[in-house]
Amino acid sequence: MTASCTWSDWSCKVRVTVDRESALEDARAIVIRLMDDVAQSVDRFRPDSELSAINAAAGRMIPVSRRTIALLDTAIEAASATGGAVDPTIGFHVQHAGYDTDIETVRASIQLARPLTLQQADWTRVRVDHDVAAAGIPAGFQLDLGATAKAWTADTAARDIAHALGTAVLVEIGGDLSVAGRRMNSWQVDVGEQSGVPAQRIGLAHGGLATSSTAVRRWRTSDGEAHHIIDPRTGRPSTGPWRTATVWAATAVEANTASTAALVLGDEAVAYLNEAGLAARLVGRFGQIWTTAGWPRDVKAA
Ligand code: AMP
Ligand code: MG
Repeated sequence: MTASCTWSDWSCKVRVTVDRESALEDARAIVIRLMDDVAQSVDRFRPDSELSAINAAAGRMIPVSRRTIALLDTAIEAASATGGAVDPTIGFHVQHAGYDTDIETVRASIQLARPLTLQQADWTRVRVDHDVAAAGIPAGFQLDLGATAKAWTADTAARDIAHALGTAVLVEIGGDLSVAGRRMNSWQVDVGEQSGVPAQRIGLAHGGLATSSTAVRRWRTSDGEAHHIIDPRTGRPSTGPWRTATVWAATAVEANTASTAALVLGDEAVAYLNEAGLAARLVGRFGQIWTTAGWPRDVKAA
């Protein structure tokens, strides 16, 4: 019988659901351990993370773990696949927009808007040396793997659980979902703009599903409201017509790459998603909904 547990970490909801109830505790332990490891690698809020060390050492390469290399490779692939719409070198820009500490503290204050004097993001400047396991960025850049690390963790946890425990599994980390293992029916998943407010129930048989939204992580600044999705071309919060994007793809990483890119690309998002052949659901600034041809129809609640 299906069993599920939910907790909070990384300022978001984490949920693991397994087909075999007796596997739940071990599955949960796998997710917790992996999240700890990933945080040690790339949590930008942890001064002792490897990502913080790379940022502090900007201008030279430093030794990093293989896991950090894998996470950097994933971020660079996402940047390459989206023509730079998803760019891990937006670290300074996210902070400049006001998101410089945990989201609750950011929401509780009014950030003073400042002129933008930062270098433009440029993911092609990230250096990863696979032979000696080292990485670095030039001075003036800061890495932020917020867009890809959660999805990578969901994919990796789901795969590890299915493999180690022999159960079908659904792992969800703050809007990034990944499924692994075999089961008779598809998972029923609620899609919406924020956790706990479902808009549509769909069947997810395999792969990953990701939702990115500018509607939730918002805060006030002296120049008006800001949010956490940066347009690397301007260095400022994106201003496109879509406020939420949900994408289904082969992995949560691919899905999340496309959902973040869709918000950044704005008017070009529809053409980008159609061209990529991805199933997607977009919600506009005024709540209007657009779906690609491949997006699933509603599934009635079981
Ligand atoms: P997501 O909610 O998965 O779309 O990821 C959003 C997070 O990714 C933000 O909180 C930032 O840490 C980071 N981010 C924001 N804009 C971008 C961008 N254009 N490219 C890469 N990462 C971004
Ligand atoms: Mg995401």
